[in-house]
Amino acid sequence: MRIPELVNVPSRAKGSRWGMSIATGNGYKPSEQIPLGKRTTDEGLPMKIAEIRTYLMDAPLERPFAYSQAWFDRRAALLVEVVAEDGLSGWGECFGPMTRAVAGAVEFLKPALVGQDAMATEALWQAMYNRTRDHGQKGVAIEALSGIDIALWDLKGKALDLPIHRLMGGPLRSRVQAYATGFYRTRDPNQRDRLVAEAERHVADGYAAFKLKLGFGVADDIGLCEAVRKRVGDKVAIMVDANHAYDATAAIRLGRAIERLDIGWFEEPVPPEDVEGYRQVKSALAIPIAGGEAEFTRWGFRRLLAERALDVAQPDTCAVGGISECKKIADMASAFGVRTIPHCWGSGVAVATALQMLAVIPHTPPALQPIEPLLEFDRSEHPYRMAVVKSPIVPRDGWVDIPTGPGLGIEIDRDAVRRYSVA
Ligand SMILES: [Mg+2]
Repeated sequence: MRIPELVNVPSRAKGSRWGMSIATGNGYKPSEQIPLGKRTTDEGLPMKIAEIRTYLMDAPLERPFAYSQAWFDRRAALLVEVVAEDGLSGWGECFGPMTRAVAGAVEFLKPALVGQDAMATEALWQAMYNRTRDHGQKGVAIEALSGIDIALWDLKGKALDLPIHRLMGGPLRSRVQAYATGFYRTRDPNQRDRLVAEAERHVADGYAAFKLKLGFGVADDIGLCEAVRKRVGDKVAIMVDANHAYDATAAIRLGRAIERLDIGWFEEPVPPEDVEGYRQVKSALAIPIAGGEAEFTRWGFRRLLAERALDVAQPDTCAVGGISECKKIADMASAFGVRTIPHCWGSGVAVATALQMLAVIPHTPPALQPIEPLLEFDRSEHPYRMAVVKSPIVPRDGWVDIPTGPGLGIEIDRDAVRRYSVA
């Protein structure tokens, strides 16, 4: 009997692979296809996953601050450590403040990973995604997957003694320009004066670009943009971020009023669900429209790109599905003629992850002098941001070298991780 071509029938042949074999461990050994690296085990697998640990980190802020959606009085982070059978570790970070929920999702994914080959990042990604798809697709499940994927890439880089960007075929650039993210509101009086002074400080620190937090009322936002532009002059790039505080009408009104101030991009003008609103704002304004930090996976970005909602895509590697997925999103954005400038808001692990990603983001469009992507460098209070890495990542004259050490190119300070971890 002839088998219809559209029906996928599993082969019974030895060593064949079917469906979720990676996750269910039905005998498939990825090492049969993968050339063995130097860290081989007796069983022939390059590197079996022995354990996955999570570190819930939390610290109160000296001065609580707000963006347009909420106040922060602490900084929370979730770090993930994937440990191989021979004791080698890889580290990753999951984006977002819902650290306990994300740690729960990591726990759920653990059985699909322990005992599997840590080198098989793509196969493991698909296994993890398939395990959570029916109940995930966005948010907590994908943030958990992201931290694990990053840790697996870090581990793979350490095993092969190469930085992640080399494993991904880079680098396309060896250093990137950082822009300062800050300008959060505090409870102090004279917010306008304080924010203008902050702008002067970033310029004095060597940043050639920074991003203002808007979304506190159209009139207030216009006043802040005017005051800052007047103070720093026209040699500094100013971007603005409303964190989706507006509807399309208000966002267009604000955008038209600040267009003359030479704004680099207008980030999250409207709520992430309002793709039509993005299109309206984008078609009404000359300012490039940026967004994507609240979107997940290639499927989420497919919609934003296909509907031409963005001029600049901002996937957060620690949220969209890790390094494996962020690279796919950057490549897909490039195919749509859209630049990728990753979102980054976390500890030194997240910054190191963004740097590895930045090394391989395609030039869009290519040119002898292409527009290069920027590193988002958060300047707001974060008690343990760089404490968790042994060599802090610090811009020099506004530039950051992409780490060339193995994996993420950082060494974790376990004492600091312990010090800021909560049970
Ligand atoms: Mg933002």
